[in-house]
Amino acid sequence: ELHMQIQQAQKMESLGLLVSGIAHDFNNLLAAITGFSDLGMRGTKPGISPFYDYFQHIHHRSEQGTRMIKQLLSFARGTPMEPQYLNVNAQITNHLDFLQTLLGTSVQLDFEADPDLRSIYADATQLEQILVNLCLNARDAMSMGGNLKLLTRQIEITQGSLPIHPYLPSGSYVLLQVSDTGIGMDERVQARLFEPFFTTKEVGQGTGLGLSVVYGIVKQHQGVIRVHSQPGLGSTFSLYFPAVEPTTEELKEHVPFVGSKI
Ligand code: ADP
Repeated sequence: ELHMQIQQAQKMESLGLLVSGIAHDFNNLLAAITGFSDLGMRGTKPGISPFYDYFQHIHHRSEQGTRMIKQLLSFARGTPMEPQYLNVNAQITNHLDFLQTLLGTSVQLDFEADPDLRSIYADATQLEQILVNLCLNARDAMSMGGNLKLLTRQIEITQGSLPIHPYLPSGSYVLLQVSDTGIGMDERVQARLFEPFFTTKEVGQGTGLGLSVVYGIVKQHQGVIRVHSQPGLGSTFSLYFPAVEPTTEELKEHVPFVGSKI
């Protein structure tokens, strides 16, 4: 068992090095393509010159590529955490417009917030990455439209309560749930979901890294992730983060500056 784990870790490490080398070079290439296609768009007129559309396509695609490379890099490097005390409700509210844009007009986005939610100690950028990755998967699963529901809940797990997860020790948790009414997943897909490079999407559509990045981030935050899915009905991802309350000292450090700066 341990031997297997070490082998797996070594494999992941050399894979990570290879990937980040290639990704880095590609990132530079894509930056040039994005930049020049942007210049091209500025030099032509929309609706008059067909070249505007051509440049726009190039721009769009290279931005898509840049996002993929970013995922590859963050997967390969494992970004360092810059945690702070966060309220998940506030984080989600901040990103609702952005998420709706990602999801497009055929997906209805709902948010049910638990007002009694405690704080978590987390990296805001990584939390955003989780939301984006889960929402993009949900969007892909609902190509005919549907409903995406975000939900938060304060959960207290005591010794007597039903096990939500066998590895979730008793304590106080913030639950973040992302549910879609998409195509769902069969058992075979569910079993391999979090494996890096596992994808059922067409070449160029998926890297198979989205959920392994999510998994890595949740784990780094001492959280747990569970999936419920039924083919044809939809999928629910449940993320449990340890709830914390900052001490008064820590709160003082994290209070945002509100006075005038003069
Ligand atoms: P990618 O999205 O690039 O394929 P992920 O790691 O994010 O990589 O997802 C792996 C696979 O898990 C997807 O290809 C898809 O088959 C499945 N999957 C993930 N999220 C969902 C979802 N919400 N609904 C249905 N299938 C999903």
